[in-house]
Amino acid sequence: MIFVTGGAGFIGSNFVLDWLAQSDEPVINFDKLTYAGNLNNLTSINQDPRHIFVQGDICDTALVATLLATHKPRAIVHFAAESHVDRSIHGPGEFVTTNINGTFSLLEAARAYWSGLDDAGKAAFRFLHVSTDEVYGTLGPDDAPFTETTTYAPNSPYSASKAASDHLVRSYHHTYGLPTLTTNCSNNYGPYHFPEKLIPLIITNARAGKPLPIYGDGQQVRDWLYVSDHCAAIRRVLEAGRLGETYNVGGWNEKANLDVVHTLCDILDQLDPKESASPFKGEAGSGMGSYRDQITYVTDRPGHDRRYAIDARKIERELGWKPAETFETGIRKTVQWYLDNQEWVRDVQSGDYLNWVAKNYQQR
Ligand code: NAD
Repeated sequence: MIFVTGGAGFIGSNFVLDWLAQSDEPVINFDKLTYAGNLNNLTSINQDPRHIFVQGDICDTALVATLLATHKPRAIVHFAAESHVDRSIHGPGEFVTTNINGTFSLLEAARAYWSGLDDAGKAAFRFLHVSTDEVYGTLGPDDAPFTETTTYAPNSPYSASKAASDHLVRSYHHTYGLPTLTTNCSNNYGPYHFPEKLIPLIITNARAGKPLPIYGDGQQVRDWLYVSDHCAAIRRVLEAGRLGETYNVGGWNEKANLDVVHTLCDILDQLDPKESASPFKGEAGSGMGSYRDQITYVTDRPGHDRRYAIDARKIERELGWKPAETFETGIRKTVQWYLDNQEWVRDVQSGDYLNWVAKNYQQR
């Protein structure tokens, strides 16, 4: 049994689905179901007895403690977080509450539970904290990619709150001996990605005939990793990572945001050519009928980091992990997934997914 927090979000739900596809070990999926939690992501395992969903807040130490004592998991995999940089700029408080206080609360529950295990249980237990490359701050065009020893220099309330949570996790290993592991991953993309983030936003806006917003000059560089490759890395770290260590996870896919948007438009032009009814078609100076015509430049995000790049050699060398997807294969699969899953997109856009618990649990 493993205990997953935030398993109804983008990466967490992909992780739970992948986990149960590859193992019979049950999962307790503990998620508050904020706007980012979507149980529609998990409909394929809705009736699976190996999947136990519990709605709850990681800040609720007592509830977490009760669940740990009842189910006796051998590991906690901690995804739950407020994750959107723009939201952290407009409302940082929730990021401090969930990402810092929530991780602290979870660590306290984990420490109490772990202390009560016998020696074999103690040795086998793992607390795996899922974090981001954004804790390292920003790189210049010629700087070497982030390694695990790069100094932390977070620039947004989101990355600062994740940096604080990383430090708490580190301290629980060094102070109390809690068997922790931390992963710092670059930008993920793939199925079930909430359309406030760049790639799903561009796909869904393009198809809806809406503007495709590009911050500033669009030359901000990010490393991109297909979500199932991130899930495989987490499984591998859980299995064989050295206690107290951090592992950078990345796809060696540095791309400027504008190039990502161009790629998405070009794939959509092939897979789902623009309808003549699009309000943007045929505007002066536009390439007739291309989704690229919808690109609109908007004021840059305050404090926008210019470049992130990950050096993933440690996890490759020590744990033999490598991404299975290239950016080209992963991005095409992602576009196809959004084309094939219109109902999921509609439910997110209408807000209907927020009623999932009411609709599904009352019927039982
Ligand atoms: P997400 O926003 O899609 O999902 C977060 C999930 O956590 C949601 O299901 C939400 O309901 C849940 N949650 C939020 N607050 C909670 C609370 N207080 N208690 C319990 N559950 C709560 O996020 P994501 O993109 O899937 O990211 C998951 C983790 O991976 C985060 O910790 C994030 O920092 C990290 N990460 C994300 C990326 C990325 O590109 N998305 C990259 C590297 C690391």
